[in-house]
Amino acid sequence: MSTQVIVQPKPVQNAFDRFYAGSRGAPGTFKVSHGKGIFFWDTNGKRYLEGSSGALVVNLGHGNARVRDAMIDQANRISYSAFCSESTDTLCKMIADLAGPGFDQAFPVSGGSEAVESAIKLARQYAVASGQPKRWKILARMPGYHGATLGAAAVTGDPDRDEMFGPIMQIMPKVPAPLSYRLPEGFDVSSYADYCADALEQQILAEGEETVLAFIMEPVGGVATGALVAPDNYYSKVREICDRYGVLLIFDEVMCGAGRTGTFLAAHHWPNALPDLVVCAKGLAAGYTPLGAMIAPNRIVDKVAESGGFLHGHTYAGNPLSSAIGVAVLKEMLDQDLMGNATRMGVVLRRKLHALKDRSTTVGDVRGIGLMNAVEIVEDQATKAIFPAAKKASYRVSEIARELGLHLYARRTASGKFGEWFMAAPPLIITEPEIDLFMELLTETFRVFESEDR
Ligand code: PLP
Repeated sequence: MSTQVIVQPKPVQNAFDRFYAGSRGAPGTFKVSHGKGIFFWDTNGKRYLEGSSGALVVNLGHGNARVRDAMIDQANRISYSAFCSESTDTLCKMIADLAGPGFDQAFPVSGGSEAVESAIKLARQYAVASGQPKRWKILARMPGYHGATLGAAAVTGDPDRDEMFGPIMQIMPKVPAPLSYRLPEGFDVSSYADYCADALEQQILAEGEETVLAFIMEPVGGVATGALVAPDNYYSKVREICDRYGVLLIFDEVMCGAGRTGTFLAAHHWPNALPDLVVCAKGLAAGYTPLGAMIAPNRIVDKVAESGGFLHGHTYAGNPLSSAIGVAVLKEMLDQDLMGNATRMGVVLRRKLHALKDRSTTVGDVRGIGLMNAVEIVEDQATKAIFPAAKKASYRVSEIARELGLHLYARRTASGKFGEWFMAAPPLIITEPEIDLFMELLTETFRVFESEDR
């Protein structure tokens, strides 16, 4: 006698869709089908322009044939190995070469949070191996974002996440980020940046300099600060302070690295203030595979290697398939001069965004560098007042944009405390006529948004 097993269909199975509803479309109603160039299509055949390159990831656009061919070629050889492969070796060399002097070795991982965790742990092991075991505190900025895993969350400057996850992690001390749009009374952009750098020094002293291991910051802010670029004096002062107290400087370039700002590392914009360690992800494989990297000098890597090895690793780190994809993405970026294009198109885009600001009543600020830009949304341009929480203005703007066929990555910071914006950061392949289309859709988005009841 045979027994028939009846499997009950489950009503909801996709927690990804469930959790990200709202920011990425209502659950069950919106599914991505395919992409080409700066566009992707949903399963209803509707086309969307990648106004924020996903989450500042798809630097090459979609459907790149060279990357696809490299993927197939590597898959035909080997996709995973516990050993270092040829493609991993090539990738590390390419990253270290592009990172330039002082960045000798790359350690590939599978994403931004993994890269941040790697840098934190490498810094700690380096301090211990150098006879400074008391150094463990990693100072960071408020606001700031460094990832979702607990080590990365501990250095993330976000009061909401601290409140939720504080009990299960060691929240690290924060110093103010040099926000440039709403300045405290009596400051201009430059003097406030100085003040914020001084705050780092005071925090180091307050913690006890012998306990401070590193300072981590995004040299060009991601969604936490909306493409914040500090004045030059900030970078050099931070570097000097870190040197004075033997504190390692870590640049989190998960979002701003890999060519997005017009140079391979955003750090290259401030060559006199280079960090000790850098982490990249996102654009490094341009969304064709999960990939990140930590980039470090010989003196740190060698010290840790000689002290018994790195007490840290991830199963998929340095896998041959992701590495081959990363190599193809970097080659394509170089051959197509996409960093040059990011610089050129960034100028064009910001000029048009400023023109939009002049015509609009709710664009408060436009800022950024290369193709990493943000548009800050305000209720009142004169007072810079933030919209009431219930309005969820930045999310409403991205919702209207999506209805019109434009994807925008929006963020309302900790209860609106630091402001709200969306990233204007299209793929690095974008052309001027495509920027015009982006601006047409954006202009219509603001026309609709500003015609709604406040
Ligand atoms: N650091 C920065 C600056 C980021 O923008 C992000 C992600 O947005 C991360 C770290 C974490 O990267 P991932 O989401 O790949 O873990």
